[in-house]
Amino acid sequence: MGLRLRQARECSRGSMTHVFHRQLKAAMPVAAKGDGPYIVDTEGKKYIDASGGAAVSCLGHSHPRVIQAIKDQVDQIAFAHTGFFTSEPAEQLADHLVSRAPGQINHVYFVSGGSEAVEASLKLARQYFLEKGEGQRSLFIARRQSYHGNTLGALSVGGNEWRRTPFAPMLIDAEHVSPCYGYRDRQPDESDEAYGLRVADELESRLKEVGPEKVIAFVAEPVVGATAGALAPVPGYFKRIREICDKNGILLILDEVMCGMGRTGTLFACEQDGVAPDLLATAKGLGAGYMPIGAMMCTSEIYDTIRNGSGFFQHGHTYMGHPTACAAALAVQRAIEEDDLLANVRTMGDKLDAALHDRLGNHANIGDIRGRGLFRGIELVADRVSKEPLDPGLKIDGLIKREAMERGLICYPGGGTIDGKQGNHVLLAPPFIINETHVAEITEKLGDSIEAALRAAGVA
Ligand code: PMP
Repeated sequence: MGLRLRQARECSRGSMTHVFHRQLKAAMPVAAKGDGPYIVDTEGKKYIDASGGAAVSCLGHSHPRVIQAIKDQVDQIAFAHTGFFTSEPAEQLADHLVSRAPGQINHVYFVSGGSEAVEASLKLARQYFLEKGEGQRSLFIARRQSYHGNTLGALSVGGNEWRRTPFAPMLIDAEHVSPCYGYRDRQPDESDEAYGLRVADELESRLKEVGPEKVIAFVAEPVVGATAGALAPVPGYFKRIREICDKNGILLILDEVMCGMGRTGTLFACEQDGVAPDLLATAKGLGAGYMPIGAMMCTSEIYDTIRNGSGFFQHGHTYMGHPTACAAALAVQRAIEEDDLLANVRTMGDKLDAALHDRLGNHANIGDIRGRGLFRGIELVADRVSKEPLDPGLKIDGLIKREAMERGLICYPGGGTIDGKQGNHVLLAPPFIINETHVAEITEKLGDSIEAALRAAGVA
């Protein structure tokens, strides 16, 4: 092994390395091998991947048919720029997605990840109105508890203050309304349905205030991931949102980057809410981490308006529609259907939910256990009655992550802003291939990790 490579490997476990990730001070294990739902590091330690990284690895880490599809594609051609060519994998993947997509969604634009898919959605929505002669529209309305990506447009519609604040002077025009957060906001005497309508109607009030003719779209995650921990809407909420968008002539953009592609038990999360968007962004589970890929999908109305107008979408990236990425994603999506994995997502999702309630449901610092399918969140609180978040100074998310990694568990602790304070949850998004033994392993290790982290923080 060359000296520089050896140094790099040694450095990557310590404080000095030439690569840098988000946490500049963290010494991380080196991932060496994938084995179904497990990652094995260079020391031979095994980690059960209960969050698929950040809800990415929905087929686990060693799926033979996906690996073969990538090899086969590279043998044919690795790359052809979409300024010159389309490719068979891109065409087939688009057919696969469109034939299963909700509502009038009929066209797909491939990109390399979630932020790019959201960014492209924002720009396509703006260009749609421009081509209709409505260039006065420049505002988006989104929700406070939301994450839509880290590029500047996506960050602008995202509602997380901690992520937005450093870049505030660089962001585009976006307003934020309340999320549908029944655990925190539903009044004791209010039904789920009444709460859903009340919170959806905030969009209508905001539209009145700002003038609907200035607004391009409402942007939301059907099931909120990184900023709220698998927060699903109450029944009727999104139907009302759809009505408000239609009545006011604005578009509905659904961000299914995290919750889509089967994660909640249906291919598209919005199917369970009985709504279809005008634009839909998806990524993570689309390629399951085998290749970087995302997609923006849109209705014929939007596509035809631009095709019959300028005929050119003023936005693009070098790697969009990458044939190898599309071949990988097609193999992932076919495996999900051939192996009936959405049925497993629903069954194992119910079992995981029950196991989490058994293990943690009565814990003094667990406020809520929620989610759909294999997308589950556990919200931590200082007090179950007041629902007061834990002191952010305790940095409980870092402690949970550390305890979990020590126990060979990958989970995704995080938090959104609750009443000006950072809240805390742990997100679980294990691969669709897990069985009951994996559910038990995840639940035990997570329960132990949370308890150890709370003890280390001096809370329990
Ligand atoms: N939207 C949502 C809902 C997400 O969860 C994420 C990633 N966590 C993104 C957008 C951004 O995706 P990416 O990190 O692939 O750019």
